Amino acid sequence: MSGADGNSQDQAFWHIKTLEQMSAEEWESLCDGCARCCLLKLEDMDTENLYFTSVHCKLLDLEQCRCTHYPQRSRLVPDCVTLTPQNLASLSWMPSTCAYRLLAEGKPLPDWHPLISGDPDSVHEAGISIRSYAVDETLVPADSVQEFIIDWLK
Ligand code: SF4
Ligand code: SF4
Repeated sequence: MSGADGNSQDQAFWHIKTLEQMSAEEWESLCDGCARCCLLKLEDMDTENLYFTSVHCKLLDLEQCRCTHYPQRSRLVPDCVTLTPQNLASLSWMPSTCAYRLLAEGKPLPDWHPLISGDPDSVHEAGISIRSYAVDETLVPADSVQEFIIDWLK
């Protein structure tokens, strides 16, 4: 979908529809392709704090920042959460830049979002996607993942 501005932007589906009202295609197009949600997370069992790491799920195509097995993702990676309008509110760990979270919180999409810019690369050029730094989980021993904790969510 190309970007829009001015009056046409005011009529964009994410302005005039709630998340629940969106079609499946509109819902999917909201994903900015950052792949931040495909980073492995670690939970402190004592505090229940969640920490993102720079290690990405083995099913991610890092160059494209897209899942290689999207239709089967829940079966292949049980920890992979399928976002719905109904479960968004309980997913407080979702990145603060995530388009679904932004809209659920009544916030606008940022200028770098492909739906605004009309350019799928703008999420990478703005440094929002994980493409430039993430490491494949198949290359990181399980007991070393904690060495990759990052703090961009703060
Ligand atoms: S964090 Fe949100 S916008 Fe980014 S890839 Fe995940 S679902 Fe899409
Ligand atoms: S299964 Fe796909 S969508 Fe889920 S975390 Fe892995 S790469 Fe991302």
